Amino acid sequence: MEPIRLHSIGVSVYRVPIETPVQTSFGVLKDRAAVVVRVADDDGVQGWGEIWCNFPTVGAEHRARLLTETVAPLVLARWWSSPPECHEELARAMRVLAIQSGEPGPLAQVVAGVDIALWDLAARRAKLPLWRMLGGDSPKVNVYASGLNPTEPQRLATAKAAEGYTAFKLKVGFGAERDVENLSSLRSALGDSAALMVDANQAWNAEEAIRMSDRLSSFGLRWLEEPIAADAPMEDWQHLAQRSAIALAAGENLRAGDFQRFLSAGVLKVLQPDVAKWGGFSGCLPLADAASNASVWLCPHWLGGGVGLLATLHLKAAAGGEGFAEVDANPNPLRELLAGRLPAVRDGAMTLPDLPGLGAEPDLAALGRYLTLDRTVLRSQISQGQPT
Ligand SMILES: [Mg+2]
Repeated sequence: MEPIRLHSIGVSVYRVPIETPVQTSFGVLKDRAAVVVRVADDDGVQGWGEIWCNFPTVGAEHRARLLTETVAPLVLARWWSSPPECHEELARAMRVLAIQSGEPGPLAQVVAGVDIALWDLAARRAKLPLWRMLGGDSPKVNVYASGLNPTEPQRLATAKAAEGYTAFKLKVGFGAERDVENLSSLRSALGDSAALMVDANQAWNAEEAIRMSDRLSSFGLRWLEEPIAADAPMEDWQHLAQRSAIALAAGENLRAGDFQRFLSAGVLKVLQPDVAKWGGFSGCLPLADAASNASVWLCPHWLGGGVGLLATLHLKAAAGGEGFAEVDANPNPLRELLAGRLPAVRDGAMTLPDLPGLGAEPDLAALGRYLTLDRTVLRSQISQGQPT
């Protein structure tokens, strides 16, 4: 890989009101936001990244400012032999600030977004699709339709089945009767061959989770996601894993050493890192090997904009193995406007096009009306000590 020296780092925040809120057991998304990173080198080659910003989306602009104030000056200051070298240095440099600010999550998300952009730039320079540069065998990625709301989920699910989806994930944690009724509707609408999963978004304690796992076990579910809090005592996860007939999944709320802690405890069958929430490719791709060695599926999490979705698909294509990448079934203009045309779903899978990098082609003209913040930091500003 060629060394990287950036000329600039830009960040844009887009915010779109939505008609149908996305409902989870812990809250409702009333608008969709995306924090998009763009890096450029001295030859004018660009790279795109995205920084996780869901829940609450009010934090989107804050993350953009964290990037320009704290991370961008470090990234612009020197040459990098590879994106992992930069990722490692940023993680080291942010350690104390993360503790001091009480914001380890947002800082890790910013570092992850920069890592995605650097990998995109590196692959564009190499004129290779990123999944191939990362060592993948095939551009074909099994996907599932995610984020099915508890209000008439079968309507959206049948529309997605008509598009080619064969796997679906329902939000649960809205009361046992409602959850069971929704799953019954989905199973009868989609048939026995559909893969079904549920996501409780940390709604229950261990005893509630055991009761719900028993109630839901007859639906043939592939996994039960975040039945309890991601930071619940490991004894609770172990107790639940022993008692649950349904495989357990988690990962979107884990960071750094958490992943290995969960793999070592043997409580998960499905690991779900979010590439824009922690680690980027440099952090998440090594998890694929660790998961594979533990006979755990790597099923990357995603519920944001189009650049992060492409990163999620490339991560899964690079990782290979069983399982799926997550594709939000809800309308979100920031998905297509940022990614460009997404691959069609055929027999439950997307095939990534033969484009360099992530293949993102943001429609900047159409995105302009949703822009709430846009800043660019130049290397020349850093070297001259100018404020950002
Ligand atoms: Mg989830």
